[in-house]
Amino acid sequence: MTNITITRTTKPATRPSDDSLAFGTVFTDHMFVMDYVEGKGWHDARIEPYQPFTLDPAASVLHYAQAVFDGLKAFRGKDGTVRLFRPKKHAERLNISCERLCIPQLDPEMILQSFHKLIEVDEAWVPSKPGTALYLRPTVIASEAFLGVRPSKRYIYFLILSPVGPYYAEGMNPVKILATDQYVRAVPGGTGAAKTAANYAASLYGAEVAKKAGYTQVLWLDGVHHKYLDEVGTMNIMVQIGDEVVTPPLNGSILAGVTRDSILTLMREWGLRVSERQVSIDEVMEAAKDGTLKEMWGTGTAAVVSPVGELGYRDQKILINGGKTGALTQKLYDAIVGIQYGLTNDAHGWTERV
Ligand code: PMP
Repeated sequence: MTNITITRTTKPATRPSDDSLAFGTVFTDHMFVMDYVEGKGWHDARIEPYQPFTLDPAASVLHYAQAVFDGLKAFRGKDGTVRLFRPKKHAERLNISCERLCIPQLDPEMILQSFHKLIEVDEAWVPSKPGTALYLRPTVIASEAFLGVRPSKRYIYFLILSPVGPYYAEGMNPVKILATDQYVRAVPGGTGAAKTAANYAASLYGAEVAKKAGYTQVLWLDGVHHKYLDEVGTMNIMVQIGDEVVTPPLNGSILAGVTRDSILTLMREWGLRVSERQVSIDEVMEAAKDGTLKEMWGTGTAAVVSPVGELGYRDQKILINGGKTGALTQKLYDAIVGIQYGLTNDAHGWTERV
């Protein structure tokens, strides 16, 4: 087990009240940092006061976006216990992203240790109010000062923590989404399956266009045919047509969501007919017309599930389940949240006590 040096802050910040928490605006007192240098490997694991980095202006991440990250949450149960939700799966995915971006992989045990140790140090920052959580953002950036285009020889792994408020403060709120065939977020062979910074930069323009048109999110269609559903905003997409729940397959251009995997597992156990197959925007619009389109929702760590109430595509606009949250969407939300807060039996061993 690698030694982790801990330097505690001498100036602890005032913690915000649980009621005032939003998403990603407040950070805890400490951060976890580890360095990589070619020939030496990952070294100098440490927890230190949260502070700005000193980065050379030539650092390759600033020019060529060689960066990966992940996002997961820890929840404080009624009994005060703090539980991480599927940390191994997130650590695995961070390494999958590293591989795609030519970043040297980390020891998965080290990633898990960084989660546990940093939360232990900043435990007091884990909020308690129902719906709140501690968001973890593990990140790797290329730090070598070099302007050539090739993988960096130096990297920084860091982990920061942010207490976050309930995604649904006033009950689940169905969103309006716009399917676009003008902009794409990923193509086969590209980086869509990796959680890398540039994917998010590339998604901003299309998302702003959708917002200007009065929608909350973009429903991304595939990058070749501009026809098959890929993802919605930064979530995986699922749609219930008749008695079948369909979600796009992990074909290299969509992110393998941990929530997606959890929800597919639950639905299969509940005996629902679940297919991981391509589904076209035409199939969805047809299903809306013939009355077989029942529910549609996005899945992701931030919201667990996000019901889709309205879908726009070209000159058409459809209402899904009368614009209201469907029964299955609600059931999935309740099931996942129950496990996360330790309210129901965690039969799959998805949570890990801190
Ligand atoms: N797709 C994208 C592009 C995302 O950024 C996310 C959020 N990490 C997801 C899907 C959902 O993944 P998860 O359920 O692991 O949060």
